[in-house]
Amino acid sequence: MTRDPRYDILFEPVKIGPVTAKNRFYQVPHCNGMGFNLPQTHAKMREMKAEGGWAVICTEECMIHPTSDYSPEPQARLWDDYDVKCLGLMTDAIHRHGALAGVQLAHNGVGSQNLFTRLKPIGPSPQAGVIGVPTQTRGMDKADIREFRRWHRAAALRAREAEADIIYVYAGHDSTLLQHFLQLRRNHRSDEYGGSLENRVRLLREVIEDTREAVGDTCAVAVRLAVDELLGDGGITSQGEGREIVEMLAELPDLWDVNLADWSNDSVSSRFGEEGIQESHISFVKSVTTKPVVGVGWFTSPDTMVSQIKRGVLDMIGAARPSIADPFLPRKIEEGRADEIRECIGCNICVAGQHTFTPMRCTQNPTMGEEWRRGWHPEDIAAKGSQDSVLVVGAGPAGLEAARGLGQRGYQVALAEATTGLGGRVTWESSMPGLGAWARVRDWRAGRIQEMANVDVYFDSQLSPENILEFGFDHVIIATGARWRKDGVGINNTARVSGSDRATVFTPEDIVGGAELSGPVVVFDDDNFYMGGVVAEKLRQDGHDVTYVTSAACVSAWTENTLEQHRIQARLIEQGIDIIVSHNLKAIGEGEVELTCIYSSRSRALAASSVVMVTSRKPNNELYLALNEDAEKLQAAGIKSVQAIGDCEAPATIAVAVYDGHRAAREMDNPPANPDMPFRREYIELDDTV
Ligand code: ADP
Ligand code: SF4
Repeated sequence: MTRDPRYDILFEPVKIGPVTAKNRFYQVPHCNGMGFNLPQTHAKMREMKAEGGWAVICTEECMIHPTSDYSPEPQARLWDDYDVKCLGLMTDAIHRHGALAGVQLAHNGVGSQNLFTRLKPIGPSPQAGVIGVPTQTRGMDKADIREFRRWHRAAALRAREAEADIIYVYAGHDSTLLQHFLQLRRNHRSDEYGGSLENRVRLLREVIEDTREAVGDTCAVAVRLAVDELLGDGGITSQGEGREIVEMLAELPDLWDVNLADWSNDSVSSRFGEEGIQESHISFVKSVTTKPVVGVGWFTSPDTMVSQIKRGVLDMIGAARPSIADPFLPRKIEEGRADEIRECIGCNICVAGQHTFTPMRCTQNPTMGEEWRRGWHPEDIAAKGSQDSVLVVGAGPAGLEAARGLGQRGYQVALAEATTGLGGRVTWESSMPGLGAWARVRDWRAGRIQEMANVDVYFDSQLSPENILEFGFDHVIIATGARWRKDGVGINNTARVSGSDRATVFTPEDIVGGAELSGPVVVFDDDNFYMGGVVAEKLRQDGHDVTYVTSAACVSAWTENTLEQHRIQARLIEQGIDIIVSHNLKAIGEGEVELTCIYSSRSRALAASSVVMVTSRKPNNELYLALNEDAEKLQAAGIKSVQAIGDCEAPATIAVAVYDGHRAAREMDNPPANPDMPFRREYIELDDTV
């Protein structure tokens, strides 16, 4: 296939100081939960993007010195020669595919916790840390500032030694020392580094100059700046100081990478932001500098990207999440396969990896984080290992991905679905407020399956064990999903809640299915991810009087990990939903429920004509269990294997279901050599001392 000429502009080279990017696709720095812990995992993950056509691929923030220690979150480091070697793995891997490697040097200043190094965090002035640990920051004196400049310069030299092409000076995300110096609210100094904006910019200017002087002859120097913090007058704004800073430093760096702070504004989830959301804040930058400008905005559509370039908003299309969901996005556009882009759904499960100190996972891209340890490639998969046929039962995310992967391998696949549509939970969940983009999980897979002559889809096919035994497929994969429980069993109630059998008690599926509720409605959330908050929001939009009760200390508590918690809580408050935290639902009576305090067990009554239970889910594993009851029957039917995947095996996130489906497809006739250790481990070099 040939590229659509409308997209030619995206493949023009861009000169960035002494280096040249081969096209306009730029993977901006992004966290990944691998960092210094897993250098090979990290390098291979970045290599996939280079192979997939990105012209520039950057590290996440890379700590320049032990006074900036983000533990337990694993970020990159350039503290010494060991780190140079680790970074070298990544730059080599990127260079193999003709791309440029960028390193985002960082010092977290007031945001450092230094839990590992035990060095005192430093900042422009003495103050409480951003992260909320009970350790305060020491205000830097002039000698500290000189030291900081020396550390940054040394780290830049180490980055060059590791053969990086672009070195960052980073003042973004409300988490870097250089940004803390810019912020009036954090910089209370009265010397030449505080007070006027010119003074507050001084250190940033000096560090850009230091970096250029140290490495600028061979490496490009990029500045990453948050031009707006979305704090109005309380922070830097793109109409005010954000613009003035860019004007003051306009021609100093070789590239401007501009965005919003903090991270939750920059990586806003699709529930709260749309493609191109940053444009109104960053579009001024090109008018005040001649240097190339890169920015992000959850870009997945090549038409939007072209529009950004043609309208003079950006020179390079920055992406973190879209490059995670589809490392081959540029190649697909280049090869005229734009309709095959696996579009990011904006769920921020990837961000949760960083927050839970584990390699990131991606809902759309099940190979993310598995490139090195399992050898999974985001596009390629081994051809089938036999002529066997496979029946996949259930077309939710797990079943769709299993059928797609097996189809790609060349197996003859039948996908049987009880209803008249594909997608399972993704289909009904994506009809809820703010979750529309999640349908992309279904749509991308449906699109690929449609192109495969060897995958047949059967709708209206609620299969029984007898049906399956009659069919005679060689392998059966059961992906029949799960359903929300009505009985209230969950984290805090391990037995059925009294009164939960009443006709006035509902599940999230009932709500989406149009159940008639009378008010007032109580939504009880003992699941504490997104569903309880979304159900409350939907019911309120439908005009109900809603009280949201949660066993956690805040609304949708786990969404802290997806950068959404504060927004969800704000939205519920703004919509007029009453919120009761730290309470369990003990019993449901006529027109009321009994709540008990999680801490004191003190109980109270609350008026409720209807109750929605969002507590836990029950696997739809009846079919799987029935089939496995009689091994002889299976053998007689010629069935060689039956396995349960996704929510049917154990209810979890959509990302887990997709991963399960993908793994089942990869491992058909090709199980791991050692099932007890199904992936490679990274070993650090040990010397002989203890
Ligand atoms: P997962 O997240 O694990 O993919 P979902 O609940 O999203 O699970 O999807 C399960 C799908 O399986 C649903 O579309 C459901 O209609 C379908 N299903 C459930 N039981 C059967 C069955 N016995 N035969 C065919 N399809 C089924
Ligand atoms: Fe996008 Fe979700 Fe994947 Fe992150 S996890 S890249 S938000 S699809």
